[in-house]
Amino acid sequence: MVKPSIIAIDGPAASGKSTLGERLAQRIGYLFFDTGILYRAVTWAALQKLGRVDQEYEVSTLSEKVNIDVRPPSVADGRSADVCIDGVDVTWEIRNSDVDANVSQVSAYPRVRQAMTLQQRRIGQRGGVVMVGRDIGTVVFPEAGLKIYLVASVEERASRRYHEMINRGVAADYNQILAALRKRDEYDSGRKLAPLKPAEDAIVLDSEGLTIEQVVERALALIEKA
Ligand code: C5P
Repeated sequence: MVKPSIIAIDGPAASGKSTLGERLAQRIGYLFFDTGILYRAVTWAALQKLGRVDQEYEVSTLSEKVNIDVRPPSVADGRSADVCIDGVDVTWEIRNSDVDANVSQVSAYPRVRQAMTLQQRRIGQRGGVVMVGRDIGTVVFPEAGLKIYLVASVEERASRRYHEMINRGVAADYNQILAALRKRDEYDSGRKLAPLKPAEDAIVLDSEGLTIEQVVERALALIEKA
């Protein structure tokens, strides 16, 4: 079977893209890369260094300088990768609710997107990669051999995120998660640059009511057909 060299998975927040991407990459021996990590890392760095994210020029300049290192996991605590910023492990910090609440604003800044897109292309151009995000099939790798757009209702996504946090031992409130996801999706879909939307040639995969194994099997069938 000749597999597509680049597999793009896009979709709204908490649609299960990372879990699917990671398992798929494992099954076919590809590199998995979650591009949301980069936008989250810049947001975390901006909150640390500037205390806010509304200064577009400063945040953009920071995004061009910050040293984000993504490596294979060194700790077995459920992480798919170690994320370090200027040498400090921020793997879980970039998942906190402050970052959730600010990341969409940061990722709408053109210079930030340009800097992150460049990094993603550098990582992906060698091929053999499953890349996950919002604009992989539309902007980063429009030439990807397979584009999957993963969806599920916002209620199901909120419920998955809620259980994931509880399982990690983090306090969680379902209604707050639901509201935050709605807001982030709206912001990500409404921005001018690289908005969240399926590429014209993307295959929409609805994971509602499916187990992760079933979603992976469907995606593997799509790879065979691609
Ligand atoms: O996928 P995740 O929820 O971790 O992404 C965090 C945020 O990063 C998204 O809400 C979006 O604003 C931004 N993002 C993006 N383009 C990508 C990946 C993520 O704008 N390719």
